[in-house]
Amino acid sequence: MSSIDVIALGAGMVGVSAALQLTRRGRKVVLVDRREPGQETSFGNAGILEREGLVPTGFPRELSALLRYGLNLAPEANYRLRDLPGLASWLWAFRKHSTDAAAEAYAAANDALCREGIAEHRLLSAEAGADRLFRETGWIRLYRTPQGFAGTKLLLALSDRYGVKYQHLTTKELTDLEPHIAADKVFEALRFPETQSVSWPEAVTRAYADLFLKLGGRFVTGEAQSLRQTETGWAVNTAEGEIAAPEVVLALGPWSAELAAKFGYRFPLASKRGYHVHYGSEGNAVLNAPVVDCERGYVLAPMEKGIRLTTGIEIADRDAPPNYRQLNQLDQIAREMFPLAEERAPRWLGRRPAMPDHLPVLGPAPRHRGLWFDFGHGHLGFTQGPVSGRLLADMMTGAQPFLDVSALKPTRFV
Ligand SMILES: Cc1cc2nc3c(=O)[nH]c(=O)nc-3n(C[C@H](O)[C@H](O)[C@H](O)COP(=O)(O)OP(=O)(O)OC[C@H]3O[C@@H](n4cnc5c(N)ncnc54)[C@H](O)[C@@H]3O)c2cc1C
Repeated sequence: MSSIDVIALGAGMVGVSAALQLTRRGRKVVLVDRREPGQETSFGNAGILEREGLVPTGFPRELSALLRYGLNLAPEANYRLRDLPGLASWLWAFRKHSTDAAAEAYAAANDALCREGIAEHRLLSAEAGADRLFRETGWIRLYRTPQGFAGTKLLLALSDRYGVKYQHLTTKELTDLEPHIAADKVFEALRFPETQSVSWPEAVTRAYADLFLKLGGRFVTGEAQSLRQTETGWAVNTAEGEIAAPEVVLALGPWSAELAAKFGYRFPLASKRGYHVHYGSEGNAVLNAPVVDCERGYVLAPMEKGIRLTTGIEIADRDAPPNYRQLNQLDQIAREMFPLAEERAPRWLGRRPAMPDHLPVLGPAPRHRGLWFDFGHGHLGFTQGPVSGRLLADMMTGAQPFLDVSALKPTRFV
């Protein structure tokens, strides 16, 4: 293999985007994964490119919510009790970052990451010939009760501050847009028109991986945990033998922390797990754009395989077996909101790679030359993969990052 500049570890949306952005800058990149591109978390998400990602999905503050969550009565958040001791320090830090003040810092960083995240996707989707997978329909947040809607105060204030557009929909406007949503279950509906969505998230990651190959990148099957430092840089074992390069990008999503720990960096990364399943729809019912039933924490998104229901969070060990309780809880709840028909197998479990401050880790390792981090994108990794890759490419090629990345720097944890 001719000499290479960068090994990119991890072929999810984040790693593929980093590899692609570096290749677009003329770097020779080999992308390494143990599976084909886009087969893990980036496979089964809700496909939302979220413009209004300004308030993190944080820890509940009210006692009533804590009790419901603790008893696993809340479909929006389930816990696997036996895993809580192992996750206690992460949960404690997560709780600390779930205040309104922390949301302000989050919004300051995320406004640009979401705005530019969407723009960067559309640039790459045009180059990759993947525009047909994208929809510029916006999406709708549904609130069932006045109390639930009262919880949007901060989101609306931050949206006003950052110029994120939204519309309060009247019942008529909601039913004109989505005639089959049960408007009688909805107290208030908010449409965010700048949010976009895709009809097949896995296909988007694969299209970007194909563009990476077309531009001269290489994909090789390999084991990222074999990464080692050499005299001249970094080396990893692959199906094609050892691959070496002066620089390496660690973008293994929820599997990133183990490898970073091998080099002495202990990142507090946990998995906020989530599930999906597809449904048919009754009769002629159609869903034109994704909707989120905010007080139950699930999304219904029209996809090529049917209507995809994605769940809120399950706090559990990353490798614990799947528990379909959340999907079972939501089946009836979602049917009240939209006339879903048959469930289409299989059910899927994914793991949002989550830092306690809800922001990704992006930048150079402080003590190892040529080691770069790009992981921990939580609920927004599909939206922010391409822009993270662009920022990383800026840093790795010595350009001034086009956005302020100080809130994302790895040294905030290690
Ligand atoms: C239910 C659900 C809904 C979501 N909805 C949205 C949404 O609508 N919008 C949004 O922006 N985000 C959403 N997300 C979050 C988003 O999916 C993730 O943030 C994103 O996919 C993370 O991408 P990644 O590339 O970091 O990780 P991954 O896609 O998990 O990629 C990591 C890669 O590393 C590889 N790997 C791991 N270990 C090794 C090893 N030892 N050797 C070789 N390779 C290895 C894996 O095979 C994998 O390909 C959702 C997540 C879930 C679970």
